[in-house]
Amino acid sequence: MAQADSPPATEFAIETKGLVKQFGLIEALRGIDFEMRTGEFLTIFGPNGAGKTTLLSILASLAQPTAGSARVAGYDVTDSDPRMRRQIGVISHASFLYADLTAQENLVFYARLYGLDQPEELALRALEGVELSLRRHDKVGTFSRGMIQRVSIARAMIHNPSILFLDEPYTGLDQHASLLLESQLKKLKTEKRTVLMTTHDFGRGLEMCDRVAVQVKGRFALHLTREKIDPATFEQLYIDTVEQVK
Ligand code: ATP
Repeated sequence: MAQADSPPATEFAIETKGLVKQFGLIEALRGIDFEMRTGEFLTIFGPNGAGKTTLLSILASLAQPTAGSARVAGYDVTDSDPRMRRQIGVISHASFLYADLTAQENLVFYARLYGLDQPEELALRALEGVELSLRRHDKVGTFSRGMIQRVSIARAMIHNPSILFLDEPYTGLDQHASLLLESQLKKLKTEKRTVLMTTHDFGRGLEMCDRVAVQVKGRFALHLTREKIDPATFEQLYIDTVEQVK
């Protein structure tokens, strides 16, 4: 019999069925169905307002769906189970950082929240990973946008999550920080983490993924394995796909 703390048995790391989200009259999600096996990397492209952030927010238990269901690591996302939260890392438009705390204090806070051993050391290591250890005693409120994004990346990964939700993670990063993030994502891939990323950057989005979706007006208008895609013609395929839904 499964122990009380072990995750529910599941075939998929992520599974959604008929996911719908309405904000008043706006239908941000109009029926999203997909599954991801452990270790898969899915990139979602889509125009502004397609509902990509809404989808990731629901999967990360930061918002509730209007209809349909989603399971992450075997947990129903509407339960906001802390055991699910421990398995996921989120990089989104919101940094989830406290402006009045230093970078180090923020990360120690999150390490403690997850009940991790040696939070100070973990925080320092995470800041070294994004090359911000020299600024660790500065308040996050004094950081540039790109630096805040770097601390967010460190925060999202500090508890070694098995599932990552990355919503336009390259936003605000300079070339050097983008390369740092890229090498972190490559490492995640070799470690068989499950990654769901949204981006507007075709090159980066196609580079590491196993599958590609194009989300338009709250639905997946295209969902293909990576090997079925030719990067040289993907931009045109994307444009045609978006046009067809209009
Ligand atoms: P972008 O590429 O610009 O980040 P997106 O694909 O992530 O876009 P969402 O942010 O998910 O799109 O927004 C989808 C739709 O839902 C938009 O029409 C947006 O205005 C609406 N929406 C999102 N959040 C809210 C909210 N809290 N209240 C009302 N409407 C919302």
